[in-house]
Amino acid sequence: MYDDEFLFETRAIRSGHHRTAEGEHSEPIFPTSSFVFGSAAEAAARFSGDQPGNIYARFTNPTVKIFEQRLAALEGAQSCVATASGMAAIMAVCLGLLRAGDHIVSSRSIFGTTSILFERYLGKFGVETTFVDLTDMAVWQQAIQPNTKLLFLETPSNPLSEVADIAALADLAHAHDCLLVVDNCFCTPALQQPLKLGADIVVHSATKYLDGQGRIMGGAVCGDSKHVGEDVLGVLRTTGPSMSPFNAWVALKGLETLSLRMREHSANALKLAQFLDQHDRIEKVYFAGLESHPQHALAKSQQKDFGGIVSFEVKGGKQAAWKLIDSTRMLSITANLGDAKTTITHPATTTHGRLSDEQKAAAGISDGLIRIAVGLENIDDILADLRRGLES
Ligand SMILES: *Cc1c(COP(=O)(O)O)cnc(C)c1O
Repeated sequence: MYDDEFLFETRAIRSGHHRTAEGEHSEPIFPTSSFVFGSAAEAAARFSGDQPGNIYARFTNPTVKIFEQRLAALEGAQSCVATASGMAAIMAVCLGLLRAGDHIVSSRSIFGTTSILFERYLGKFGVETTFVDLTDMAVWQQAIQPNTKLLFLETPSNPLSEVADIAALADLAHAHDCLLVVDNCFCTPALQQPLKLGADIVVHSATKYLDGQGRIMGGAVCGDSKHVGEDVLGVLRTTGPSMSPFNAWVALKGLETLSLRMREHSANALKLAQFLDQHDRIEKVYFAGLESHPQHALAKSQQKDFGGIVSFEVKGGKQAAWKLIDSTRMLSITANLGDAKTTITHPATTTHGRLSDEQKAAAGISDGLIRIAVGLENIDDILADLRRGLES
């Protein structure tokens, strides 16, 4: 009811909640695995699908449904299906929309576990993936085969903040009867709405910015009522990685402040990127909000702001990078992101540690590279924590 009438920030707070007879103001949690029916006939009607309604929490749960409807309203989607994690969301898309013999063209710069899912597990069932350069339209086009069904990408990419042209890739996908799937984890719908740019499906790790405080695992798939509302939902109901009502409730509370948080993450990240860009111990800064970034104009045209992830190379390689990380007192040394707390990580020995030296070089992961997921602390404290290491 709020979806057409209200603007983004309002939907993030009010969409999806249909108050129960108790008159609760905050969304209720329904910790129940099954639901009861008024009669044997009603049970039969629910099971046959003649009557809509809850049956069993692997299929639907009212708290999870509020989260799904709210996120659908934010992404501008007909349907949203919540999952136990971001990886469950991506897996459900693949199982729901692909069959043996199909082919995926995917950006090389995606979450490491997603590339393992594509290569090791989908490969086992006869689905092959070709990995391409996120920003090179010609190689996307060349990689498409008669059996290609999905194009998959994240933008901006992790950790180097490359930006893909979502509208151009959606056109390419549709010209070849493929679907474009965008992992919108880094921007969230507060900063970028891929479906409005022509993408067919959006996947989320709710573990990151949607919750926003590092408390839960969760995920979601958004898209049209056929591909998501039937095909992906069918996989979820059958295979089981559905979102728990408690996690849905935490993520709902996260959505209420999503817009505010993304604005502040972006503002802090821009200040950090500008500070690092001026610093003589820093070789290079990767952040699409800097005017020197090669896709700054594209990022500006399809995103509302530039997000909270800043990567940079320190002079002196791994030794200097580790020294800087170890000299911080406040920043958390962890690979997670999308938290109110700022995190710092050394991709070459953590998130990208399993890559060979050649693969790291091809992916641009140098030994001096550091990634910071900028949190919501006062930016002056974040800068002071880094200055200590940079100026020692
Ligand atoms: C974390 C992450 C995932 C996986 O999400 P989980 O909730 O950890 O399963 C997928 N894509 C991106 C971009 C991520 O950062």
